[in-house]
Amino acid sequence: MAHENYIAGEWRPSETGNTTESRNPADTSEVVGEIAESNESDATAAIDAAVEAQEAWASTPGPERGAILRKTGSLLAERKEEVTETLVREEGKTWSEASGEVQRAIDIFHYYAGKAADMGGEVKQSSSPDTSLYVRKEPVGAVSVITPWNYPIAIPAWKIAPALATGNTVAFKPATTTGITAVRLVECFEDAGLPGGVLNMVTGPGSAVGNTLASDDRVDGVSFTGSATVGDIVYQNAAENQTRTLLEMGGKNPTVVCSDADLDESVDIVASGAFGVTGQACTACSRAIVHEDVYDEFVERLTDRAASIEVGPGIDDPGMGPQNSEGELSGTLEYIETGVDEGATLETGGGRPDGDGLDDGYFVEPTVFSDVESDMTIAQEEIFGPVVAVIPVSGFDEAVEVANGVEQGLSASVVTNDLNKAHRFVDEVDAGVVKTNEKTTGLELHVPFGGMKASSSETYREQGDEGLAFYTISKTVYMN
Ligand code: NAD
Repeated sequence: MAHENYIAGEWRPSETGNTTESRNPADTSEVVGEIAESNESDATAAIDAAVEAQEAWASTPGPERGAILRKTGSLLAERKEEVTETLVREEGKTWSEASGEVQRAIDIFHYYAGKAADMGGEVKQSSSPDTSLYVRKEPVGAVSVITPWNYPIAIPAWKIAPALATGNTVAFKPATTTGITAVRLVECFEDAGLPGGVLNMVTGPGSAVGNTLASDDRVDGVSFTGSATVGDIVYQNAAENQTRTLLEMGGKNPTVVCSDADLDESVDIVASGAFGVTGQACTACSRAIVHEDVYDEFVERLTDRAASIEVGPGIDDPGMGPQNSEGELSGTLEYIETGVDEGATLETGGGRPDGDGLDDGYFVEPTVFSDVESDMTIAQEEIFGPVVAVIPVSGFDEAVEVANGVEQGLSASVVTNDLNKAHRFVDEVDAGVVKTNEKTTGLELHVPFGGMKASSSETYREQGDEGLAFYTISKTVYMN
């Protein structure tokens, strides 16, 4: 049976009656399930329900809202094994990666459950002795949440949890290829006793459902994570109604390897950043910017490492799973072809791997390019696959210039034992997340996350205390 939309506290078929199959990217003959292929009026019904439920939810005491979030997290923890399996079969990442992602969602619910009792705000001294002056935080209202497939449970969690904690209601559109994972999440909310209409989910194409969620003038905020192209459309649609937006988009994240760096550590950092989650992370390392003194040795060791990664179905927990869809796979293969055409040297990978059953899925080899110049396409555009471009540089200043020489600015790391260089990198690199002697991927949930330049709308951050700001608005009270 196909999974339905969740609107006003009930599961409803879409108006179209159509469904979309979700297939296992490791074996495309396996249908994981079907989700509703909804249209504009389904999305409008979700907004109707969110608008209708908002006042009552905002008046529900914060600790009570927090208790429901806590229960949601606990139910997800009870169902962790089952949800992990759905995520692996639908998205493709390895069991360890998927299980870590589900755990992150659990932790996010527990974190924001605690925040629900404290909306923020502040008390000030007025210049008039008869006036109490304070700032209270109120929910913005009914918000839309639009998410990508690559972290199909953690990203919805890090948007929905702070939205609900602060008294907003939500109309949620997950990515189409990972709709069943989203259904599993919504079931936890339902079973935790979330009142009808507070969280509504509609599955279906971005052009119909996503457009409606971003352009309805009753929506008070649109929180979007996905590609820059779609982020731009969401921004334009929301701007027509002056609706606030939080947009988190792609990256072209560098790791700079200095001449003094430990090369084994550098290879670990670059390989795990580039090939973890099959390179399908917004923070994935896709450029290694390496000092010429250690360049040849680094390329050799990274190539050996990439070639040794076992590729296979995520369910077997290999070194690397498949890409999520045919579109993602062909996109990666096209970029690899472009890299070769533009004159970069293909050191390893570059195609589909051989092996039992690997033809049945969207598998691609971990790929390393050397002799990459910083203006080549593979050094400029987000590939979103397991491909790393190794760029030689003659010194630290040039490394930072190359690191900054792209449109995006999400995550960046440097490998060095020189504290001075580490500090300079933090100062000079244009990125919302900067790491020293660590991979570009991996986030802690209690600190802000977001990009600079084209990676982000920059006005709001996600996660941590700052993650609440998008979902609240200040009301300044002069109580005489
Ligand atoms: P995408 O932009 O194709 O889709 C994202 C979501 O938008 C999906 O739910 C999609 O259905 C929906 N959508 C499509 N068209 C729409 C429209 N016209 N209006 C409204 N919504 C629409 O992205 P994707 O392929 O799912 O995800 C990969 C991208 O996401 C990469 O670029 C990656 O870097 C980025 N990403 C960014 C972060 C971050 O926090 N910065 C995190 C994860 C992924």
